Amino acid sequence: MKTLILYLDALGYRFISKENTPFLYNYGKENSLLRLKTLLAYTGIEHTFITGELPSESGIWTGFVYKKNYIGKILRFIPLPNSILSYPYALMNYYLSGNTYLSKLYHIPRKFFGKFNSGTKHKIWKKDFFQKRSFVYYGWPFFVQNNKVKLDFIKRNDEYKVKKFIKSFNDNTDIYFIQLVDLDKTMHEFGTVNEDTIKELRRQDSYASIIVNEFKAKFPDSRVIIWSDHGFIDIKEEINLGEKIKNFKNIDYFLDSTIARFWFKSEKDREEIIRILSRIRHGKILDLKDKDKYNIPLGKEFGEVIFVLEPGYLFVPNFHQGKIGCRGMHGYMPDKADLDGIFIINKKINKKEIELNEVLGLIEYGNLQV
Ligand SMILES: [Zn+2]
Repeated sequence: MKTLILYLDALGYRFISKENTPFLYNYGKENSLLRLKTLLAYTGIEHTFITGELPSESGIWTGFVYKKNYIGKILRFIPLPNSILSYPYALMNYYLSGNTYLSKLYHIPRKFFGKFNSGTKHKIWKKDFFQKRSFVYYGWPFFVQNNKVKLDFIKRNDEYKVKKFIKSFNDNTDIYFIQLVDLDKTMHEFGTVNEDTIKELRRQDSYASIIVNEFKAKFPDSRVIIWSDHGFIDIKEEINLGEKIKNFKNIDYFLDSTIARFWFKSEKDREEIIRILSRIRHGKILDLKDKDKYNIPLGKEFGEVIFVLEPGYLFVPNFHQGKIGCRGMHGYMPDKADLDGIFIINKKINKKEIELNEVLGLIEYGNLQV
């Protein structure tokens, strides 16, 4: 059966309403709209969705892991800003290393370029779910049609992508997958209640309506899936961890927006960092029980010490947003705030919520107990 998978980045379950997302609201009502339980993860979320493997099983969790990066080692000596270096970095990763998960360098300090590498080698279109079928995958910077890759590094907005995607509909393709990301960008910049955010929510709803209606008109007897990876929380306070650890010259660390990870060469540094982290009230060091609860992989490359912030708090500076920070964020412990995504399917399912790692079973084999 021809299947459309529309991935609306950041469209949390709690943002679905008659007023702001009328199409999704009604389509969900006529079919099935489920709460999609999110994870304490970044990269690991879409991977879990498409493979059914949790980060603890696949080892795909965050954008970067502690792993030698030879391309980064070379690029660190080129005196250009990270934003510009990100392009040769992505191209070298693609053409030299054969990676399809192409990361930017964001605000990663140069001294760490050689020490951290992508948390996964491949983007999800390399996974079985796509590879055993004919497919169209559209997620920046890739437009892939049956493994024929077109790279497009120009920043395209979602409107452009929707038009291009619709034009690709043809009789010979089974799976159509598109990821729209403008809502994620808007929510980071303006938070969850701003006027611009509401406008973007409505735009995303209209994109969904356009894509689904075109798809159903062309392929009446088809499967439609609309999903999102997570919701969003407004930032109430920034925490400057960089300042507290700036005198430690012999440690390696990665500051994600909401997660700080450390690697040590001496026991003394480890103890002191743990002492500093324990004094931060709005977060916690993950112990083994937490890692089990949140499905965090256990290898050393994921962090010898992992500290996670409470919802609403943000590390500034961090290696993603740099020194500026932002108004909205995701990537928190999912039992501490409503950060769940959505799962809409044009099939009646007698269920209100679904775990991310149950989705594959449902759409692939229909074997979920419903
Ligand atoms: Zn985001």
